[in-house]
Amino acid sequence: MKNANVWGRGGAGFPVGTKWSFLPKNTTQPIYLVVNADEGEPGTFKDRMIMEFNPHQLIEGILLAAYAIKSEHAFIYIRGELSLANTRIREAIKEAKEAGLFGSLMITAYTGAGAYICGEETALLNSLEGKKGFPRNKPPFPAIAGLYGCPTIVNNVQSLATVPWIVRNGAKAYTAIGTPKCTGTHLFGVSGHVAKPGIYEAPMGYPLKKLIYEDCGGMLGNRKLKAVIPGGSSVHILRGEDIDNVMLDLDSVKNAGSLLGTGAVIVMAEGTCIVRALFVLLRFYDHESCGQCTPCREGLGLLAGIVNRIEQGRAKMADLEELIRLVNAIEGNTICMLADAACWPTRSYLAKFREEFEAHIHKGACPFEGKFQIFNEL
Ligand code: SF4
Repeated sequence: MKNANVWGRGGAGFPVGTKWSFLPKNTTQPIYLVVNADEGEPGTFKDRMIMEFNPHQLIEGILLAAYAIKSEHAFIYIRGELSLANTRIREAIKEAKEAGLFGSLMITAYTGAGAYICGEETALLNSLEGKKGFPRNKPPFPAIAGLYGCPTIVNNVQSLATVPWIVRNGAKAYTAIGTPKCTGTHLFGVSGHVAKPGIYEAPMGYPLKKLIYEDCGGMLGNRKLKAVIPGGSSVHILRGEDIDNVMLDLDSVKNAGSLLGTGAVIVMAEGTCIVRALFVLLRFYDHESCGQCTPCREGLGLLAGIVNRIEQGRAKMADLEELIRLVNAIEGNTICMLADAACWPTRSYLAKFREEFEAHIHKGACPFEGKFQIFNEL
């Protein structure tokens, strides 16, 4: 995995092989492998597709990974809402076990109760232990003290589903795909205002514009592209006119001012209210805050309230400065990244579409009312 230079597909982009190498050598404690299948980031649905349509690829990846890290017990923590994935993973475990593939390995499937925060690896471990899904302070990192205080590797579904292909074809063949720094393929989940939304597997470094205009059949109703969120709801937004040279790999998206995240591409057409989109996202993150940290527990509700007032035309220009003041106070001052995940869109939507926020304030109403919306169903 190190030679293949596989970066984790859960959003943080940490190299999988390096993570495995953090496990203590010669430990007398059991080593656990935990599969993070609690996919809940708005716009992200790639792991769900793997679990629903190719669960045995994940099981095979777990068997190989567990062998590599010397683990005898793996857990799959599956998001509660994904009922088909829950069913199919359990069927696949049963079939693989009956086929005699497990040896001494035990695989336990666990259904989460639907909290977004349990997708954070240490909150997930607490939840698995039967505690509240509260993120833990790090260090110690899970590789040293994870599940039940034992060395634990937490990997994303897609990260593990890449393992069988690499073992079968070799690291060299894997690194021949994608870019030198960002290898392999990725499952890009495209949603929003495109003609053919869905999951598209493409090599890393694939042109974003080609994905939208060729693979996804272009914009819905041939509308103009207004904005793209390239990596799941928490990353910085890009204006439609700024994506010409954006390739879908870690460096290119970063150079464009955003992050590849989970590779969930959310497309917004002209007529979409950016303020409304931000409000719905902030309401989501505020609702999902676990409440441990004051800046997150109190701050996200304040952000959502101000953006709601702006959208309804009940705000003043000073509220825009207040948004930035709050974001500066929240970002980087909490235990986990959930609060940052609400601050980044706030900062970037305001920077990239400030004229739209101001238009709401000056007009005293939403200029897009009744037109194209996005995220309404979140
Ligand atoms: Fe909980 Fe928010 Fe603090 Fe994360 S940042 S630990 S979600 S209160």
